[in-house]
Amino acid sequence: NLVHVGRALISVSDKTGLIDLARALAGRGIELISTGGTAAALRMAGLAVRDVAEVTGFPEMMDGRVKTLHPNVHGGLLALRDDDEHLVAMAAHGIEPIDLLVVNLYPFEATVARGADYETCIENIDIGGPAMIRAAAKNHRFVNVVTDPADYAGLLAELARNDGATGMAFRQKLALTAYARTATYDAAVSNWMAGALKESAPRRRAFGGELAQTLRYGENPHQAAAFYTDGSGRTGVATAKQWQGKELSYNNINDTDAAFELVAEFAGKAPACAIIKHANPCGVATGESLLEAYSRAHDCDRTSAFGGIVALNQELDAETAEKICEIFTEVVIAPGASDAARAVFAAKKNLRLLTTGGLPDAAARGLAFRQVAGGFLVQDRDAANVKRADLKLVTKRAPTDAEMADLLFAWTVAKHVKSNAIIYVKDGATVGIGAGQMSRIDSTRIAARKSQDMAEVLGLSAPLTQGSVVASDAFFPFADGLIAAAEAGATAIIQPGGSMRDDEVIAAADAAGLAMVFTNQRHFRH
Ligand code: 5GP
Repeated sequence: NLVHVGRALISVSDKTGLIDLARALAGRGIELISTGGTAAALRMAGLAVRDVAEVTGFPEMMDGRVKTLHPNVHGGLLALRDDDEHLVAMAAHGIEPIDLLVVNLYPFEATVARGADYETCIENIDIGGPAMIRAAAKNHRFVNVVTDPADYAGLLAELARNDGATGMAFRQKLALTAYARTATYDAAVSNWMAGALKESAPRRRAFGGELAQTLRYGENPHQAAAFYTDGSGRTGVATAKQWQGKELSYNNINDTDAAFELVAEFAGKAPACAIIKHANPCGVATGESLLEAYSRAHDCDRTSAFGGIVALNQELDAETAEKICEIFTEVVIAPGASDAARAVFAAKKNLRLLTTGGLPDAAARGLAFRQVAGGFLVQDRDAANVKRADLKLVTKRAPTDAEMADLLFAWTVAKHVKSNAIIYVKDGATVGIGAGQMSRIDSTRIAARKSQDMAEVLGLSAPLTQGSVVASDAFFPFADGLIAAAEAGATAIIQPGGSMRDDEVIAAADAAGLAMVFTNQRHFRH
């Protein structure tokens, strides 16, 4: 199963590591064939190279759209070296075998990411490259295909190990990587077109991702796991710079994403902080300063915040960093961190600090996925958020301005809490969060009870739900949840409305003197 490499075709857009690779190959006596730009780079470095135009007998033409699309190239990649008919065909047409293909593609993803226009994106769809990669990968019994500069060193090591040849297992791995690359590439084209045509989730398209990181394990230690990026370049955990601490775990990445997407709702607003545990917030607050926002988020549920993930909507400062260090925290993510803040964290070796350079656009279009047995569900990401003008007053009493501000804050948080979500808010800080319960009344009660527990911890005479407002991510199906919220001391409610029993629920609100607004929009999150 060893295949000796005698001839290589190299055609690369990303010329990283090209010269070193080509020099090493030439040093092994391997003949080099190349396309225009690649050949020019090799000649500049003093290497002997044959132009692919000489192999095909055609010039590269049509702005490079047609360079390698020719039987002399594809026959050389696809011919079975142990099939007599293939060998006869090669001899009859003067087709020479190509044993090694080194190709990386036109930078389509990068072209899209930098916001290029439609025509430029189209021109950056590589045609000959993927065709050769797929041909070489199919014929991996005889041909090596390298699509990533990161694999050059491995190729040279394999050649060195086998005196200029490669083994079957090695070529199979290269082929697997090659097919992953062309599939991801075509998925990127498909998704770009869907975006350019303003299509949302239901349109038929392909999905792909690039392996970014192999993780130590998944949600649990017995599950292997990896992190893939989708090429969208969305600001967040995938694009963040990690300054210190151990490698992020699967759960860290999941929770950090939830935390950062939540504070992204507060872009350009007052300092805001979210503390996340198991993908749910256990405290979210705004404040005059980040320090105040963090402290108030922490005070919502100090017990749960232990070992949490902290996200901030502004650059981390030293005072806030000092305060965060008072309890065990897994990850802190922020748009930036001052030198002084980083110096504070440096003493906490295990604390992971991530900075992103900015906040993602909370209203950006995008897709969300969920796996089910035998398939996966795709939907538009929940990019909606109501404004004050969208709300419908349904009770006799209207919210005060202070209540209204807290209602909108509570509604924004509700979007990021697993259903059934009930959120009590006072003065721009959550004071009770009920998440992930199977009945809405349970979420209402749990949130109120947690607030009572915190009142004891904080030495308050009454829980902070007294005089708070409440958000419910979906309508109250019965009046009982609303009555429970009123009993906990809530004075105003925000919820979608739309229940068969809205009249009952509104009557109960009026009877309790509550102000209630309907959003006419639901934020289920599962
Ligand atoms: P070079 O810089 O060598 O001129 O071009 C290298 C790029 O051309 C590589 O990214 C390779 O995938 C791409 N390529 C090679 N053959 C063809 C072809 O026939 N058509 C197109 N569109 N691209 C090709």
